[in-house]
Amino acid sequence: MATATDRPAQLKPVSLKTETAVEMIGVHKWYGEFHVLRDINLKVTRGERIVVCGPSGSGKSTMIRCINRLEEHQQGKIIVDGVELTNDLKRIDEIRRDVGMVFQHFNLFPHLTILENCTLAPIWVRKMPKKDAEEIAMHYLTRVKIPEQANKYPGQLSGGQQQRVAIARSLCMSPKIMLFDEPTSALDPEMVKEVLDTMVTLAEEGMTMLVVTHEMGFARQVANRVIFMDAGQIVEMNTPNEFFKNPQHERTKLFLSQIL
Ligand code: ADP
Ligand code: MG
Repeated sequence: MATATDRPAQLKPVSLKTETAVEMIGVHKWYGEFHVLRDINLKVTRGERIVVCGPSGSGKSTMIRCINRLEEHQQGKIIVDGVELTNDLKRIDEIRRDVGMVFQHFNLFPHLTILENCTLAPIWVRKMPKKDAEEIAMHYLTRVKIPEQANKYPGQLSGGQQQRVAIARSLCMSPKIMLFDEPTSALDPEMVKEVLDTMVTLAEEGMTMLVVTHEMGFARQVANRVIFMDAGQIVEMNTPNEFFKNPQHERTKLFLSQIL
């Protein structure tokens, strides 16, 4: 197995082709009769970090899942790094390769080791030789500070460690954009910080990030903008400073009074 010291030669920095990482224009989505996203307009520029918050059921997960087509929208346009999301499966594959996603419940494969979890997609999707994939995996496992866990199974790790593996696994695919859906809300409080620290580092390195979270300390520290969603709409969008100091809408004020 490769050691994890220097950045392997295969790890070229990847960058977005366009200045606008993600654009959503007049996006609507329904689950059957239920109108879950109502006229979402959002432009995320390269390197921007956006925090999305809002009450449970407001459509936060649905919105970010539409960006890598885990959910399909019915009206409006979603453009990711210059490519419009349509039913063209080849393009959806391309976008899924470039957009990493980290879920609340880690979603690691329980029957694979940590190293195998990290090398699976690079080997099968990116067609990378196993040795190179392992070298890159060890690089990122070192970055998230758990290289010594490489040969264990997910069930042998703490929640915080598993979530850091999930982040490393995403990074192994050299994503251009990272989506996080409440990455710390299933963790015991003492493990939240280790995961947030990993995300802060990623932000400092210039990763374009959309993060659904109620960790307002994280929002203040790294977000360029905070979005507040309610009932399928973006109700408010502002810099963290203004958002917390001067919320404009009653619904935002109510939400902030409940979580802060
Ligand atoms: P959030 O992440 O803000 O809690 P979601 O995007 O998960 O909100 O859900 C928004 C609304 O859509 C909720 O009312 C939820 O029950 C509903 N919903 C989510 N997924 C589905 C689905 N697959 N089918 C039908 N309704 C769904
Ligand atoms: Mg959600």
